[in-house]
Amino acid sequence: MNEIAIIGGGIGGLTLAICLKKSGYSCHIYEKNDEFREVGAAISVFPNALTVYQELGILDDILRVAGEVKDVFLKTQSGKILSQSSPRYDLPTVCMHRPDLHAILLRHTDAQLHSGHALQTFSTLPNGQVEIQFTNGVRKTVDALVGADGLNSVVRDRVINDGKPVFRGYSIWRGVCRLDLADGYGSETYGNGQRVGIVPIKEGVFGWWATLNEPFMQTDEPEGTKQKLLAHFGDWHYPIPALIEHTEHFIKNSLSDRVPVRGWSQGNVVLLGDAAHPTTPNLGQGGCMAIEGAYILARCIQKYGLNQEAFTRYEMLHFPRAKAVVDASLAIGRIGQSKNRLVRSARNTLFSLLPPRLTLRMMDTYFSYDVRKLAI
Ligand SMILES: Cc1cc2nc3c(=O)[nH]c(=O)nc-3n(C[C@H](O)[C@H](O)[C@H](O)COP(=O)(O)OP(=O)(O)OC[C@H]3O[C@@H](n4cnc5c(N)ncnc54)[C@H](O)[C@@H]3O)c2cc1C
Repeated sequence: MNEIAIIGGGIGGLTLAICLKKSGYSCHIYEKNDEFREVGAAISVFPNALTVYQELGILDDILRVAGEVKDVFLKTQSGKILSQSSPRYDLPTVCMHRPDLHAILLRHTDAQLHSGHALQTFSTLPNGQVEIQFTNGVRKTVDALVGADGLNSVVRDRVINDGKPVFRGYSIWRGVCRLDLADGYGSETYGNGQRVGIVPIKEGVFGWWATLNEPFMQTDEPEGTKQKLLAHFGDWHYPIPALIEHTEHFIKNSLSDRVPVRGWSQGNVVLLGDAAHPTTPNLGQGGCMAIEGAYILARCIQKYGLNQEAFTRYEMLHFPRAKAVVDASLAIGRIGQSKNRLVRSARNTLFSLLPPRLTLRMMDTYFSYDVRKLAI
C-alpha cells in the first residue's frame, strides 16, 4: 500500500488523514510534541469548513461540543453598538474548545500516530520516494510527504525557502471563561489600536481574544498578563474587564503570516494548511482553510494518485481562495489595529451605516463557500 507521511498533527494533518480514510493509502502522522494536543483556547469553525466535516460524517460530534454564534455585535470600547447581525447559513457558525475539536479529529482518524517525532530533514530518492529523518534518529521512506507543520514549517523551508513569517505589528491574547451573556452572543469591540472579540462556546462558557500593537515577542513582565490587560482594557464596556479578571490561563501570540506565494510542492512533497498559506486570524479562517485544503488535496490524490499532477491541481484549486483570505484578513487587521483618528472614525461610521444584510453578503464569499462543489 502507498504510504504518506504527514508532518504535523494539527487541524490540517488530522483532517487530511480522515479525508484519506478507506482510500487505499496508509497515512502516518508525525508530531514533534510528546503527545497529540492543542492549546486551550477557542476556535471558530465557519460553515465553509463544517461542510467538509459534514461530508466526513463528524459534524454531529462537533455540534455536540460547540456553541453557535447567533448574534454578532460590533461595538466601540464604551459599549456603543455600531452594528448587529445574525449570520444564517445552511450550516451554523460554531465555536469550541480547540482541544475538543482536536480530540474529535483524533477519534476519527485511522492513521498511525507517531508523537515525539520532529522532522529534521528529508530527501527525494531517484524513484520519487521521500526519505525522512527525524531528530530522534528515526528514518522512514514513504511515497509522499505532506508538510502540515504549521507557521514555522520545516518542510516549507525546503520547498519554498522564503524565510521567516512576517510579523504584523500586534500581539493577541486568548482565554476562555464563564460569563453572564446571552446564549449565542458574539462581539468585536474596537478601540484605538486595540480590539477585543468574544465568541460563545457552550452553556455560559465564552472564548475571547484581545489585541494590542507592540513589538514582536514582547514580554508581559514585570506587571504580569492580567494586570497588563486590565491596564489597557479595564475601562472597556461589560464584560471585557470581567473576562480578563475571570480568566485563569492566557495564551499569547505575536501575529504573523506570509505573503502568499505559489510553488507548494516539489516532487512528492507538498504543503498543507499554515505551512502553505498562514494567515492572521482576523477572519477566523486559518484553520478553516487548512480543512478546505485537506479536502481538496485528498480528493486530488484519490483522483490522480501520488504525483505532481495531483499536487499541481490541488494548488491550482486552493491557492486563489487561500490568497484571498490571507489578503483580506491582513487588511481587516490593519484597519482594526489602526491608531489613525481618521481611519478609526471612517471604520466606525462605515460599520454603523452598512446594512447588516450587506455586511453578511460580503462575508458570504468566505463563510458559505462549499469546497465539495469544486470540479477536482
Ligand atoms: C490567535 C489565533 C486565533 C485563531 N483563530 C482561528 C479561528 O477562530 N478559526 C480558524 O479557523 N483558525 C483560527 N486560527 C488559525 C488556526 O489556528 C491555524 O490556521 C490552524 O491551526 C492551522 O492548522 P495546521 O494544521 O496547518 O497547523 P497547526 O495547527 O499549527 O499544526 C501544526 C502541527 O505541526 C507540528 N509540528 C511543527 N513542526 C514540526 C516538525 N518539525 N515535526 C513534526 N511536527 C511538527 C506542531 O506541533 C503542530 O501540532 C487562529 C490562529 C491564531 C494564532
